[in-house]
Amino acid sequence: MENNYYNSYFKVDMDTVVNNYKIVKKHIGPDTDIIPVVKGNCYGFGLVPMAKLFVERCGAKLIANSAMHESVELRHAGLSCEILIVGGIPQHLLHGAVEYDLQIPLFEEVTARRLNALSGEARKKTKVHIKINTGMNRLGVKPGQNLENLLNLVKSFDNIEVVGAYTHFVSSTADYYDPFTLEQFARFQEGVSQIKAAGFSLQYVHCCNSAATSWYREAIDYSTHVRSCTSILGHMAMEDGREPLGLTEPVEIGTYITNVHQIDTGDSVGYSRAFIASEPMKIATLSVGFADGFYPGWMRKQGPVLVNGRRTRFLGCCMDQAFIDVTGIPCEIGDKVIMVGRDGDEQITTWEMEQFCENTFEFLYGTLGHRVARIYK
Ligand SMILES: *Cc1c(COP(=O)(O)O)cnc(C)c1O
Repeated sequence: MENNYYNSYFKVDMDTVVNNYKIVKKHIGPDTDIIPVVKGNCYGFGLVPMAKLFVERCGAKLIANSAMHESVELRHAGLSCEILIVGGIPQHLLHGAVEYDLQIPLFEEVTARRLNALSGEARKKTKVHIKINTGMNRLGVKPGQNLENLLNLVKSFDNIEVVGAYTHFVSSTADYYDPFTLEQFARFQEGVSQIKAAGFSLQYVHCCNSAATSWYREAIDYSTHVRSCTSILGHMAMEDGREPLGLTEPVEIGTYITNVHQIDTGDSVGYSRAFIASEPMKIATLSVGFADGFYPGWMRKQGPVLVNGRRTRFLGCCMDQAFIDVTGIPCEIGDKVIMVGRDGDEQITTWEMEQFCENTFEFLYGTLGHRVARIYK
């Protein structure tokens, strides 16, 4: 049964997301397309609604995520587009790729043999993208003899179809023209050439994430697709906060005041007397806490918050409730409080919270739990 009784919310402006998608598409040009990555509950934005938006309103043909569980969830939700898993797959789940027609990374022989057998049993061909290890050393096969051996094995199989090749950059967010990224791209081209020379035609060749997409023209033009999400979600991931494409943040995170009262000098707030007032204050209690998945430091280290257009700070948090300083700010029980977004002339951006929490937005939003209502405008 639907339950709309939420203490806090995460509101996504879908038109803004669609517009960001268009900006990224225009930037990469007509000959390259986008594979939106919806991993980690689409970075906390909500797996199914965001995937549907990318397919139905943005025209994405292939979407990627990291885990079999999420891919299956997309199928159960009725998505019939191509789906690629870019993360590692536990062997005992491999049959899911066959059952749900998912594309998976291939880079070693154990999976190749098993996938070929499982696909054969189901009388299907499973599509794979050869994952090339160019320096991340997470998943992938290195160009050269290892790749040659894998390609020879796959050629002897009837039930695996190689449709793509990809790699992932290690530090493209750190700097424009990061020298290691250039090295990785060279290794990727070596691998792709080797795959083509072995007689495979590749429908998908992809290496750029959002950050690389912002600057690495040569890699974009070499590829059929970029794998992107951060940018589409309005957040360019360059470490220094530069945002060269003109993207807009679609997010508002908010909650509500459940109590307002005065405290005196020396009064403490919350468990363990974590905050002690050095002067008389007005404080408010909010219906949000770290059990909602908010990074605890956001509230404990006195992160910013907006109340009726005024900027103030958290004083601490518990599992399900938090405290803010509202001294001198007109407010009452029931008022909305903005944790990220705009309120009057004030704004708290995702970038500001990343700096404050010393954490990435993938972490800050990807950990938000189901008690934070995802609302789509
Ligand atoms: C997360 C991820 C992406 C997308 O990264 P963004 O920075 O959101 O563009 C692309 N490829 C792989 C393998 C990923 O894990």
